[in-house]
Amino acid sequence: MSRDVSSQGCAASHCPDRTSLFGGRFRRRTRPGFVVGASWYCGEGCLRQGLATILEALAQGRSRGVSVERSLRPTLGLLLMEQGKLTKEQLDHALEVQQHKPGLRIGELLVELGSVSEREVTQALSRQFAVPWVNFVKGQLSPAVRSLIPAVVARTYSVVPVDHQAAAGRILVAIVGPPDYAFVNGLSRMLELDVAVLVADASRLAQLIDQFYPESKAAERLMELGTVDAAALTDLIATQAERYSAEELRLERCGARLWLRLIKDDKRLDLLLDVDLPEESEVYAS
Ligand SMILES: [Zn+2]
Repeated sequence: MSRDVSSQGCAASHCPDRTSLFGGRFRRRTRPGFVVGASWYCGEGCLRQGLATILEALAQGRSRGVSVERSLRPTLGLLLMEQGKLTKEQLDHALEVQQHKPGLRIGELLVELGSVSEREVTQALSRQFAVPWVNFVKGQLSPAVRSLIPAVVARTYSVVPVDHQAAAGRILVAIVGPPDYAFVNGLSRMLELDVAVLVADASRLAQLIDQFYPESKAAERLMELGTVDAAALTDLIATQAERYSAEELRLERCGARLWLRLIKDDKRLDLLLDVDLPEESEVYAS
């Protein structure tokens, strides 16, 4: 997955080695430095300089998704009514309750109120977002597929990998709808795979996450940082990279969080950084 950066010198613009002949290559043999994306940085100081630029781009919400006008999509409540699963009275009642429970999704609320079943919501979400729904009959997943998504990501985003179609460069993942495309885009960039989304029942997915990703002692974790400035964030990432003796760093924005992957030999450490980032414009995969 690493890009070939063997012929490059240090990417930091103020690097003292940058202008010297063979500088980058020579230093590389003596000290491995850090690979970030298509760039190589000779040491921690230069890494910090590179990270500052990368973080600035990520904070600006640069994204490769395709925007879709959200209002074109019918609401979940209307879809359920249209299918005769829900009455207007039930929907009105749920919408009224929702006003006092901000943040609770209408689908969850309708299940909670007993108006519709979880499966009916899953199927309606599938129609609403034009993605297939999946019913896990047996909970089996090969370790190779499972390891594509680290536990901290599976748990934080309620996502389970379903299949890896290596030849097509694609991974199928099950999520609880509605799909969070800011996350899906970040996942796609981090894994360098196309991500095909399926929706599944929330309760079944929670069971599978417990089964496939039991709490482990792995150092991977969600770090809740809140409001930090770019300098502090750069410092934290560089320190983690140094501590892990990382050879390569990967950093992707997943909506409101940053996903940092530190790679050393064939091992890796995944960290989710919960930081207050400027709002990313809502993006939808095409
Ligand atoms: Zn350098």
